[in-house]
Amino acid sequence: MKQKLLGRTLEELKEICLQEGLPAFTARQLCDWLYKKRVSSFDKMTNLSLKARNLLAEKYETGAVPYFKFAQSKDGTRKYLFNVSSSDEACYIEAVMIPDKDRKTLCVSSQAGCRMGCRFCMTGRQGFAGNLDSSQILSQFFFIDEAEDLTNAVFMGMGEPLDNLDNVLRAIEVLTSDWGCAWSPKRITVSSIGVNKAVGKIAENNEKSPLERFMDESRAHLAISLHNPFHGERLALMPCEAAFPLQETLRILRRHDFSGQRRVSFEYIMFKGLTDTPRHADALVSLLKGLECRVNLIRFHDIGDTEYIPSDMKAVQAFEDRLNSAGITATLRASRGQDIEAACGMLSGKEKNNTTNKQVLWIS
Ligand code: SF4
Repeated sequence: MKQKLLGRTLEELKEICLQEGLPAFTARQLCDWLYKKRVSSFDKMTNLSLKARNLLAEKYETGAVPYFKFAQSKDGTRKYLFNVSSSDEACYIEAVMIPDKDRKTLCVSSQAGCRMGCRFCMTGRQGFAGNLDSSQILSQFFFIDEAEDLTNAVFMGMGEPLDNLDNVLRAIEVLTSDWGCAWSPKRITVSSIGVNKAVGKIAENNEKSPLERFMDESRAHLAISLHNPFHGERLALMPCEAAFPLQETLRILRRHDFSGQRRVSFEYIMFKGLTDTPRHADALVSLLKGLECRVNLIRFHDIGDTEYIPSDMKAVQAFEDRLNSAGITATLRASRGQDIEAACGMLSGKEKNNTTNKQVLWIS
């Protein structure tokens, strides 16, 4: 199998060039073609010698994944479908571009499916098909129609980014390095349920959790999916609360030095009767007291076949007011792309026989 170049750092590309007997400056040229001009084949790298292009094409591939369909919402939101299959079995992921005044924000997927199993989420119900590598994450940025105009990115698509931390950090490094896309890390937000201990193995002494590693190794913003301040109730919505309790996440956040660039926010989905009462608002206030943060309220969108109901607007407003008057900055996030099922928790990546996706008008 050929090795992919998309997602490699400048240093790694230099090593490859050295190994292949190519001049060191070829690494800079490769960065330019891969991350600035974003070409998808070696043929197009015209300032590389023919010999170098042939040699690279023999052993490597760029790793570019073009989208093969998109769906356009009447509010301008666009949902793109990518095929990331590595075997005969089809595997799809989605990215959503959300235009808002002079901004174009990309909502990026980090995994095909998700292991966290949140009950209200279409991706969570779908199960887990695998981690995306950094070329598959970066392709969502580089090969959509608005690639040149993107202003911001949120890792809030399919998957739990901190469950695929190495690839997410690598993609962020490419996006924010001067040899890459030179984005400010302030333009990127990573959303997580709060993976506060090592996953799938016994943590070695003093081993950092993915959450701590993310905060140490990246300067991107962090958004924690909180959704319910009570352990038992959060557990019922999000089974991952058992492995990664919110209290531990908050302990880690309180220990971290947030001076400098990073901002922490909390995502809070409003479910009628389940998360939107004054009791929940008051518990949220005491939980977040003293932590410099903001709360983004999201009215739940019905994904079909669930017992969950979106909160009434009156309850949402009352909740928002209660938080704000207690000194916690809270705002209701506008919902976008509902007619193409691009809203929070709706991404499924399923192409066939899906009860909700079959209503989406895809354009090839
Ligand atoms: S809400 Fe996020 S973390 Fe939870 S199952 Fe869905 S994709 Fe995974």
